[in-house]
Amino acid sequence: MSDQLFSVSGQHILITGGSRGIGRAIAEGFAARGAKVLICSRSQESIDAAVNEMQEAGMSVSGMTCDVSDPEQIKSTVAAAIDQMEHIDTLINVAGVNRRQRAETFTAADYDFVLDTNLRGAFLMSLEVGRHMIERRSGTQINIESLNTWMPLKGVLPYAMSKFGMQGMTRGLALEWGRHGIRVNSLAPGFVLTDLTKKLWSDPAMQAWNAANSPLGRLGQPDDMIGTAIFLASKASAFMTGQTLYVDGGFSSGWSWPIPLS
Ligand code: NAP
Repeated sequence: MSDQLFSVSGQHILITGGSRGIGRAIAEGFAARGAKVLICSRSQESIDAAVNEMQEAGMSVSGMTCDVSDPEQIKSTVAAAIDQMEHIDTLINVAGVNRRQRAETFTAADYDFVLDTNLRGAFLMSLEVGRHMIERRSGTQINIESLNTWMPLKGVLPYAMSKFGMQGMTRGLALEWGRHGIRVNSLAPGFVLTDLTKKLWSDPAMQAWNAANSPLGRLGQPDDMIGTAIFLASKASAFMTGQTLYVDGGFSSGWSWPIPLS
């Protein structure tokens, strides 16, 4: 008999940014374990490709386009998701974008581009799904943060601000919604190879820096995120809310410096 503690079988899951990278891996991880999954992202093409591949593998997955930077699309997507799946047990806010440049060169448009998706989009999505979960007196929300929540990296200031904000949102919603039976936690990935980061990690200097500083000595793969997401959505984490779990190969455990040790 399989262990029910970590089961997500039969759960209905809504994943923003579920077409590629970390969101896609998490979608497959849940669907392969018997959850009914609905993914959304901006591009119909990437949604169709992801849904077709997962359906061909026998998984219960559907998709719809939704740009989370548009509040109207959030409303209509959540309504359509509830219509289609009847209810949502778990929301996973994965959709995210980044712009890398010196702080003094960012414009209001850059700020809006990053924050409207990463923070305002996740916030409005959480509230829209949260109202449905409050009515049901049950639900789990998982937000995808970053190592930038732990310490900001140089060169990505609006992104770092969005992830700091997301941690505030996770903790604040956990405080307010615990009494409704809703848990809100975050998963903070370390450095993971995806479309968002592959150019950066093709640089040998970056690879050497990671190898020297990551306790596990490698970059993360999107699949590395599945276990923790499942833990946060399952009964195994029933007494946990308002927390951020770092899945980062140990990066945030401390500083490494090049002093030789005998
Ligand atoms: P990715 O490969 O670029 O995938 C991003 C996903 O988000 C895609 O499905 C994309 O699909 C969707 N998306 C982007 N903007 C959207 C919007 N406005 N509305 C709806 N969907 C949108 O990125 P990733 O590396 O998997 O990153 C996923 C999340 O993990 C992000 O929140 C990122 O900040 C976080 N993260 C990543 C890393 C890493 O090292 N990769 C580390 C820490 C945290 P469309 O293009 O079709 O919209």
